[in-house]
Amino acid sequence: MSFIKKNSLVVSIALAIIAAAVVTAFWVKGGSVLAFLGDGTSFDGNAFEIWKLPVLFILAAFFGLAAEKLSAARYLMISAGFLVFWFAAGMLFTKVTGMSFLFLPVAFLMPLVFAAVHTKKLWIIDDRLNQKLQRLAQTGQLLEGKSADFRIESGLTLLKTVLPLSEVIVFKRRDSGELMPIGRTRNESGTDSLSSRQNSWRNNVEMCERALDSGETVLQIEDETKGAAKIALPLVVDDLKVGGLFINVREDFEQEDQNLLEAFSDQLARNFQRKDLRDNSIRDGSKAGLFSTANNLNREGIVNLVKGTIEEQSFGVVATSYFREAHAIAYLDGTIAHANRQMLGLAKVTEQEIAGINLFDLLERFKTDLFNEPKIAIRRVLQTGKAYECELEFPEVETKLGLEINLVKNSTEIGDSEIIEKPACLLITFRDITAIKENEKMRSDMTNLMSHELRTPITSIQGFAEMLMLDENIPEESREYLQTIANESQRAANLLSNFLSVANLQQSDKKEFLKSPVKLDKVVEEVVGNLQDEAKRKRIRLVERQDKRIPVVAADRGLITKAISHLIDNAIKYSPERSSVIISTILESDFLRVEVEDRGYGIPAAEQEKIWQKFYRVARTGQDKEEESTGLGLSIVKEIIEQHSGDVSVKSEDGFGSKFSFRIPRF
Ligand code: ADP
Repeated sequence: MSFIKKNSLVVSIALAIIAAAVVTAFWVKGGSVLAFLGDGTSFDGNAFEIWKLPVLFILAAFFGLAAEKLSAARYLMISAGFLVFWFAAGMLFTKVTGMSFLFLPVAFLMPLVFAAVHTKKLWIIDDRLNQKLQRLAQTGQLLEGKSADFRIESGLTLLKTVLPLSEVIVFKRRDSGELMPIGRTRNESGTDSLSSRQNSWRNNVEMCERALDSGETVLQIEDETKGAAKIALPLVVDDLKVGGLFINVREDFEQEDQNLLEAFSDQLARNFQRKDLRDNSIRDGSKAGLFSTANNLNREGIVNLVKGTIEEQSFGVVATSYFREAHAIAYLDGTIAHANRQMLGLAKVTEQEIAGINLFDLLERFKTDLFNEPKIAIRRVLQTGKAYECELEFPEVETKLGLEINLVKNSTEIGDSEIIEKPACLLITFRDITAIKENEKMRSDMTNLMSHELRTPITSIQGFAEMLMLDENIPEESREYLQTIANESQRAANLLSNFLSVANLQQSDKKEFLKSPVKLDKVVEEVVGNLQDEAKRKRIRLVERQDKRIPVVAADRGLITKAISHLIDNAIKYSPERSSVIISTILESDFLRVEVEDRGYGIPAAEQEKIWQKFYRVARTGQDKEEESTGLGLSIVKEIIEQHSGDVSVKSEDGFGSKFSFRIPRF
């Protein structure tokens, strides 16, 4: 087959030559054939002469070429015209030269060449179609045997779970129309006699036949009060009758159950066809595929199955209408593929209108002060492949929406088991977060209030403890207690102040920051200067490393100073004496990075994710009495950096040291 495909033109010309040979053979034996067609002698001009042969064969090659290159309709049209011309030219030729001419052989040759070449062309297309269908059937496990059987089995289990069934029989319809049982489950071991069982079997088959003939469910109520019934359902896929399903319900059958059974039998019919098609796989097109009815029926089945599978897959999209969130799927050209009911409601568009708008038009409807350039958000998602998240506030309707834009990727197999992920579409999700945000605000307001209220008594406790310590009459022993009270209240005050700064950071809107051009290397220098005394106490060397020409960033200087202080302070706190801490300011293509590296205690791998959480402290033997520790420092750093559209990271090895770093975008 591949030879024919590769040398299509040569094969066509060869077929035309063979056709010419066949015509010649008839011609030589002309008498009988022509006599059969009419009075042979009246076709005097067609008498066989050797000089006519080359002309016939050259014409055949020419016809072969034309049949290969032209469509069927054009070939037939042109050949009709050619025959008229040929006839006229032949008459003229005979008149002038008195010699006979070859009209009839040419008239036979033309359709013969056409039939041969055209069949070959169809054959090639047919083979290609076969291969494609075979591949299609293999992909998506359309015909995967296990899944078809599994689906049928799982379907029957589902049915048994929801209805008290005493018997289920699945019939397959043979080509002859006869029903053949292929699966049967019985819950009750019958005590009936053989003849009554045979009778009821015949009745069951008959019910299924009736259902299949009429295309409708046949219901036979056995016992009205108990709700016992026999139901026969046709299994039909796209007008193709594939089998029947017989069900015997013991009790509690309700009229509404019929809807369930009908929906179920649709699904079963599709699964059934899957199984059936797999059993008769498509024949190789290079054999008699084109002319085989069984093969062509199989192909029709596969097309039906693909149709069914598309329908099944569309369930996923339809199901999104039952989500609480509003969803829209957009193709990469920006057109909307699907928007669920909630999205239509939120965007205030009708189903007809959504067909006429694109993704940008849709997002325009959700523009706020913060989300004022939807195009930039989409561009970021497409560039980075990372999700875009944003909270949108609509004060006029007192609503807050959480927006998420995701780039959906599809994995495609290339070559030998290599899989690549290609962007497929965009998924836009809006979540109503009004209630959650309100709740969060209430909780944080309450804790803030509590923290504020606690501050005053704690400060008094600390103040009075310190005052009492100044009293010389207080005995030494009590003085020690007073020192503890003062230290602990200092610790509580620190904790509260850290806690309040996290809470303030979380509440503040990004707009509230006083962003101004800040030179990060200068900030680092300043912080290092401030912490020099503390470092010296532990004989720790603070080393600064800076790239040349560090550009400015837009930042809140106070907050960034706080973040860097926390990192260097931690590095000093969690390092042994006589070690060093290296602070680097690095210029990257789109970011500025600050790294704080120490040779300290390090953090176990399992805890590295958690240290950014509020109040999380790494428990170390001998250090759990760390007075300065609140577990809030790193969460403040993270919050500050994220508010500056940057991110934080840590690399650490337990016992060898840590490298904390953050980066913020350049101006
Ligand atoms: P705090 O230092 O107040 O306990 P942080 O949020 O700053 O709170 O840090 C959380 C935990 O992370 C600390 O308990 C500490 O064990 C660990 N940690 C922070 N920085 C370092 C560091 N440079 N080296 C080792 N551990 C660290």
